[in-house]
Amino acid sequence: MATAVADLPFTNSAQQDETKPFVGTPRKATTHTSQNEGLIFEKSSPGKKAYRLSELDVPTVNASALLGDSLREDLGAMPEMSEIEIVRHFTRLSTWNYAIDLGMFPLGSCTMKYNGRVNEAVSRLEGIAEAHPYQPESLSQGALGIMKLLQDCLLEITGMDAITLQPAAGAHGEFTGILMVRAYHESKGNARKKVLVPDSAHGTNPATAAVVGYQVQNLKSNADGAIDLDELRKAVDEDTAALMLTNPSTIGVFESQIHEIADILHAKGALLYMDGANMNALVGKTRPGDFGADVMHLNLHKTFSTPHGGGGPGSGPVACKAILEPFLPTPVVVERADGTLGFNYDRPQSVGRVRMFYGNFGMFVRALAYTLANGPDGLRQTTEDAVLNANYIRAKLDGYFDLPYKTASMHEVVFSDKLQAKNGVKTGDMGKRLIDYGFHAYTVSFPMIVSGAMMIEPTESESREELDLLIEALQQIAREAAENPELVKTAPHSTRIRRLDETAAARKPVLRWKAPAAPDGVEPDTAAKEW
Ligand SMILES: *Cc1c(COP(=O)(O)O)cnc(C)c1O
Repeated sequence: MATAVADLPFTNSAQQDETKPFVGTPRKATTHTSQNEGLIFEKSSPGKKAYRLSELDVPTVNASALLGDSLREDLGAMPEMSEIEIVRHFTRLSTWNYAIDLGMFPLGSCTMKYNGRVNEAVSRLEGIAEAHPYQPESLSQGALGIMKLLQDCLLEITGMDAITLQPAAGAHGEFTGILMVRAYHESKGNARKKVLVPDSAHGTNPATAAVVGYQVQNLKSNADGAIDLDELRKAVDEDTAALMLTNPSTIGVFESQIHEIADILHAKGALLYMDGANMNALVGKTRPGDFGADVMHLNLHKTFSTPHGGGGPGSGPVACKAILEPFLPTPVVVERADGTLGFNYDRPQSVGRVRMFYGNFGMFVRALAYTLANGPDGLRQTTEDAVLNANYIRAKLDGYFDLPYKTASMHEVVFSDKLQAKNGVKTGDMGKRLIDYGFHAYTVSFPMIVSGAMMIEPTESESREELDLLIEALQQIAREAAENPELVKTAPHSTRIRRLDETAAARKPVLRWKAPAAPDGVEPDTAAKEW
């Protein structure tokens, strides 16, 4: 299968020009603007204002009488600018971002699907967007109805018995789920000691188990990247609280022995936690509740098309089997005898509240809009399209990049940089070079069981045309890595800033602006005073 790179049928085989940063004439997905833009503090000029108000015609309040010692006279060097300067400053900065509205995010493990505009429109309806979490139940029947219907849909999709929408993210869902596992074992008199985590797991899994007070025991995968049943049998004992398993696994492979895995755990009284972040490959095709999972989380901001990234709110509902239902966080949505909906707080075995109010309600609305708009057939189609897209990329790039696992891909595909590393070109270099072609990088160096991993998850959102753009760019990069490795090793060439010192950025972050020192003998003006 491993074709010599020089023989590959590259689509962009234009002549190489050493004087230009680009080889050939790649089709670019987006352009990178590279304006220079100073900090807002540097643009400040004393006395400038963004508004002008007329004189107050009502009695003024004496601020110091109201605030006492808390009144702050000196606000430090706040930037002073006109309205248009402020608008332009932030608008220019916003154009430096890469965004799903500009092009695809091939990030594996992240399911960076597009959130349809209609989901946004629905979540902004006045009655929904302005509902207050402290509104009485009688005035919140619509909001409660949205939560109940979403819960019912997610239970149907997962095949589980009970659910909470409270957790705010995937990792938070894991935390909630493993807390419930712990409460379950404690209710039987013994919390048990350890949680098993495969070596292919997302880093949040071992972190979750440790935070909930369990020892983490690593499970080595077999040659296919799946759970090794013999290893599992050896590891499971009466001290095992649970196995945390991602299915399909982080290398995008379905655990076909999942029933047996569940049986091995259950025989020793241990539970199967399923990390459901990869449900984009399963929805409408198979249900974790049917293949033995006891508790799982979903990422609404991945599989159910709510916005992802940019630090916005996420949502990580936890669904479970009936044995774990008593331990769900409070409150839970219930249907009262008179047919109205309400919250039940009287749950003595609950792990307690994990999030203020009931979770990130706006995300529930978007996820429900997405689910209902697709319907059962649409959701199944979505899954099939996501898997087809990943396998299309796999087939088109096989031979250009090393494929460490031969098992068929589900929703994502993992290559490695093995062929390019011979020329000193690493996965991170190629990820950065992809920026020059107008794409966000794929997931670099994860999962850790693949050395030099290049992990790509297109999702069903992407058209064949966009996938072809990405494929062409990656084929071109493979060619560059063979013919002109320096070009790739020094990428990106088209961005405002080239290579950052990633270690220094993480270890010595500069989060505070300090005015440059004023020259000798010059009184610094207020705007330049350190604050
Ligand atoms: C994304 C992801 C998580 C964590 O979800 P967050 O919402 O980012 O906390 C956990 N496990 C897997 C497999 C994931 O892909």
